[in-house]
Amino acid sequence: MNIGLFGGTFDPIHKGHLALAAAAQERCELGRVYFVPTNVPPHKAAQPVASYVHRYAMTTLATQAEKSFVASLLEAPGEFILHDKKSAKGSVASVPNYSIDTIRKLKQSLKKIDRLLFLIGIDAFKDIAKWREPESLFSECEFIIASRPGFSLADVAGALPEKFRPRAEVTKPFAKQPASGDLVLSGVALHLLDNVNQKISATEIRNAVRAKRPIKRFVPESVEEYIKKEGLYV
Ligand code: ATP
Repeated sequence: MNIGLFGGTFDPIHKGHLALAAAAQERCELGRVYFVPTNVPPHKAAQPVASYVHRYAMTTLATQAEKSFVASLLEAPGEFILHDKKSAKGSVASVPNYSIDTIRKLKQSLKKIDRLLFLIGIDAFKDIAKWREPESLFSECEFIIASRPGFSLADVAGALPEKFRPRAEVTKPFAKQPASGDLVLSGVALHLLDNVNQKISATEIRNAVRAKRPIKRFVPESVEEYIKKEGLYV
């Protein structure tokens, strides 16, 4: 089975995330997509506003309608992992979650014939070379990247870790080509989605809640209700 792994802060999860997952599912025939809220994001300067529990709850609500979308506890802080006697309380919460560890953890539960694909937006992908063990990420899984207008194939190739990055003279002709289609280089398989173009960000949603503006068009109804009920982001 083709399996998608989609990590994010999901603070809150929104229709842009769901659109990415749906487009990825269609393009690469994903039988399941794991949405993994991260406890401590290592790549973001700002830490999440809502607690892990709230973000996980919203991810569960947002994915409920789609059978193959699953909210995952893979990056849950230790105290939330049921029956995990080894997890220490308190200190665990501040340890950053590295994607390479999550990928390896998930792969332990997959079958040999399963194919793992990592879902990501191009904004996040452009920093991928700075992630932990960047080269291993590409040997462990394929990538599905949601592009945006203004990003070219050369931008995508240029973001790869040095080992995989084609020489500038090779990618020069790509500079005017929009980031779409498949990019298969030695040791790297990238699938580019150019049809996910929702102008939504969690930051904008949090700002809207604070300013008492409606958020209906950004999030599923269940998530909107949850934010209201729990008084998040006010
Ligand atoms: P924030 O505004 O708090 O930075 P965000 O909306 O970017 O949050 P994240 O949880 O940080 O959401 O994003 C998780 C993943 O989803 C990242 O790979 C990001 O690039 C991607 N993503 C976020 N928003 C969109 C969107 N509107 N369309 C497609 N992909 C998105």
